[in-house]
Amino acid sequence: MKNQRRIVATTLALTTLGAGLTVPSALAAPPASPGAPGIGDKVWPELGNGGYDVLDQQLAFRFNDKLTDYTASTTLTGRATHGLSRFDLDLLGPEVTAVRVNGLRATWKSTPQGELVITPKRAVPKNARFVVKVDVRSKVTGVTDPAIAFPPGLIQYDDWIQAINQPSGARRMLAVSDHPAQKAPATISITGPARLNSIANGKLIRTTPIGKTVTRVFREDRKIATELLQIGVGPFTVVHAKGPHGMDLRYAVPTARLAEIKPQLKTFDESVRFMEQRLGRFPGVRAGAYVAPVGGELETQGLTLMSADAMTKEGFEQNGTDAVVLHEIAHEWFGNSVSPEQWSDLWLNEGHAVFYEGEWSAAKGRMSQSERMRSTYVEQGNQLLVNGPIAEPDPAKWPGENASTRPYSSAAYGGGALVLYALQQTVGTKTFNQIERTWVREHANGLGSTEEFIATASKVAKTDLGPFLRSWLYGTKLPAMPGHPDWKAAPATRQ
Ligand SMILES: [Zn+2]
Repeated sequence: MKNQRRIVATTLALTTLGAGLTVPSALAAPPASPGAPGIGDKVWPELGNGGYDVLDQQLAFRFNDKLTDYTASTTLTGRATHGLSRFDLDLLGPEVTAVRVNGLRATWKSTPQGELVITPKRAVPKNARFVVKVDVRSKVTGVTDPAIAFPPGLIQYDDWIQAINQPSGARRMLAVSDHPAQKAPATISITGPARLNSIANGKLIRTTPIGKTVTRVFREDRKIATELLQIGVGPFTVVHAKGPHGMDLRYAVPTARLAEIKPQLKTFDESVRFMEQRLGRFPGVRAGAYVAPVGGELETQGLTLMSADAMTKEGFEQNGTDAVVLHEIAHEWFGNSVSPEQWSDLWLNEGHAVFYEGEWSAAKGRMSQSERMRSTYVEQGNQLLVNGPIAEPDPAKWPGENASTRPYSSAAYGGGALVLYALQQTVGTKTFNQIERTWVREHANGLGSTEEFIATASKVAKTDLGPFLRSWLYGTKLPAMPGHPDWKAAPATRQ
């Protein structure tokens, strides 16, 4: 496991005191400086924050009766990686009402770029643990027609609340350090009207009714990236089932549609088993879904967001929802347990999810993996032109508002799956499976980068796969598919 990038000073700075007398500067008061506004992500440099590691996050939401407004507080425990005169959290939209650092009121400034710049009363010394608490209030984005695009973050639809935070919507809900490289265990508290239920990632540890409200507190002991947070409120029923080796399968399903949706829930159990056969044990203790009217199919950790319409018998029969469920469950390994170190590593999430979706469909007798990959190959030449290389999506190619989601392109999805298929063709299925198992085991509950994946593949295959994999991942020209010299990409037609 690696945490955020850090520059380690290897030389001991010396301070000269008078003629010829030098003492290590460590004996003087260590200097404090501002933490960087981002962790240095190649795609979205403003996300996450420098100068500290996140050790724990407590997130508390309180909704009004109509679910149109909320207050939220973040209590984040961090450890300074250098002396901090000031530091940032990520916040875009909600109004800040108070900030405290180690219990003392701090001053703050919100920038339009989504930085909350916090100046504590006293500088935080290097290596010191500190606690920052940020209170905010905000309106929830109301959605009247789910078919119309809505912004990331929390949304309200009728009596429902749900969150779609990938990649950077969490900072629109409340103050966070909004990058997977700073993932940390989380306690999530939701206070809402007593007539409605509530759910979040992690285990329900406390329910406290007070008057017309109820507070439920959930604890996720595993590290969780802020993009994978789920906050649900609505008229739903929570049902539990026992999965493989007794793991908890938990589903929040609209009460009015429970009978209609319940038969399809077993696909989550099947998907976990299918993936465990290939990759080894599920990376957490809990899987399942929050089935909501708007939905959106998102791999929020241990609690996949699914739309109620997709979860019906018709959704499964006509739209192949079972493959979507498999895709989201595959993300519990690729993305949730092993999170991208940089957003340019997104292909490691989506490429794997699409690849195993193909394995699932082939196992169900629908379409062979090679048939599927062949049609992806035909399109991929153009994807490289439009989006840039698979592991190096080029922000300069994105016009205006598309910049917020553009790495979520076919290059990362189909292109990422093609890379894995090419690898499997080259090393053989047995070695490929060993690479995959080694990857998810060695980076479990942590981070993984493209270069680390290349290193794992080379180590397991006992051959340097660097030149081969880099030609697929960083090239702008589609390499020939090993074993399929007849595959040809479509002629380039730049959009
Ligand atoms: Zn996905």
